[in-house]
Amino acid sequence: MTDLRTERGLAVELSDLTRVYGQVRALDGFTLSIEPGELVALLGPSGCGKTTALRILAGLDTATSGTVSVGGKDLTRVPASKRDMGMVFQAYSLFPHMTVIDNVAFGLKMRGRDGAARRARAGDMLDLVGLAEHADRYAHQLSGGQQQRVALARALAIEPSVLLLDEPLSALDAKVRVQLRDEIRRVQIEVGTTTLFVTHDQEEALAVADRVGVMNAGRLEQLAPPAELYSAPASQFVGEFVGLSNRLPAQVTGDTAAVLGRDVPVLPGSTTGAGRALVRPEAVSVVADPDGPATVATVMFLGPLSRVTCTLPDGTDVVAQLASTEALRLQPGDSVRLEVAPEPVLVIA
Ligand code: ADP
Ligand code: MG
Repeated sequence: MTDLRTERGLAVELSDLTRVYGQVRALDGFTLSIEPGELVALLGPSGCGKTTALRILAGLDTATSGTVSVGGKDLTRVPASKRDMGMVFQAYSLFPHMTVIDNVAFGLKMRGRDGAARRARAGDMLDLVGLAEHADRYAHQLSGGQQQRVALARALAIEPSVLLLDEPLSALDAKVRVQLRDEIRRVQIEVGTTTLFVTHDQEEALAVADRVGVMNAGRLEQLAPPAELYSAPASQFVGEFVGLSNRLPAQVTGDTAAVLGRDVPVLPGSTTGAGRALVRPEAVSVVADPDGPATVATVMFLGPLSRVTCTLPDGTDVVAQLASTEALRLQPGDSVRLEVAPEPVLVIA
C-alpha cells in the first residue's frame, strides 16, 4: 500500500467566534486551537454550539464575528469548496446509486484525478477501513457501521487538511459504536490528519481524543487531556458534566478543604469558606465501623466494581465505588465511616 500519511497535519485556530441566529447566540466568544495531527473531541450537551463550530470550520456556515485559520492561513472568507476538509456526519450520507468504491473516489473525480489514480487511492482507503471486499456493493447492502466506515474512507480519500466528524457514531448500536470509535482513532493516528470529533457522549470523547474540549452555551469551558479533564475540572459545569460526582459539604481554608473530616487540596477555581466539594465515587472509601456516623443505604453490584450509597447524619447521600470484593461485605443498614482520597477537589459555592 502507498504511504497514507499526507503532509503532517495542520494547526487549526478558531478565534473568538460568535454566531448569532436571531435571539440565539449559538457561539459566544468560542476559541479553540488544535495542534497539527491532534484529535480534539468537542463535548457538550445538545444545543451548546458544537455543530455550529464544526460548520464554521468547514465553511458551511459563516461566523458573525471571529476568525478561522488552518496551517497559519486565514480561511475566514474562503468558501467551503476551497477548504479541502473531509467530513463525516451522523446520518448515512453515501450516494445510494454509486458503489462503495465510486463513493470513496467521488471527491477525487471532482478534483479531476484520472480514473486509475482514483481507483488506486480509493482502494487504499477501503483497505484502511477494512472494507476492500465490499468495493462493488451499494450502500443498502452494508450495515450502518460499514456505511460509516465508507464515509470515513471517502472523507480521507481527498487527503483533507482537516477531518471533521459530527456525531459519527450516534446512529449505531452500542457494540458497533465502540468498535468504530476505536477504528476511527486507529485510522486517524495512521493518517495523521488534524481532526475535530464532535460528540455529546463523554465516554466516547474521553476514549478517542488527545484532548477534550468541553463546551457550554457557545463557549469552551476547558480543553485538556482526558485524564486531566476528569481529575482536575476547571469549572462546576465540567465537574458535573464529565463523570459522576458527589457534592459533599466542605469548608475551604487557604488551599485546603475539610471534607468528611479530612483535609484535601483544592483545585484552582474553587470557592472560599463553606461550599460543596465535587468528589468522584472512586475517591470515597467505606470502612465498616459500628461507631461510624454514616449508614449504608444500598449496594449495587456492577461486575468487578460495585456502587455503595451511604447516608450521612445530615441526610446527604454519598456514592462510593468500590471493588466488589469489598462492597459485598457491606449490607444496607450497616454503620460505616467514609473517607475521601487525598486528591485535589473542586469546591463550589
Ligand atoms: P449542538 O450541535 O451542540 O447540539 P448546534 O450548534 O446545532 O448545537 O446549535 C446551537 C444553538 O444554535 C441551538 O440553540 C440551535 O437551536 C441554534 N441553531 C443552530 N443552527 C441554527 C439555525 N440555522 N437557525 C437558528 N438557530 C440555530
Ligand atoms: Mg450537533
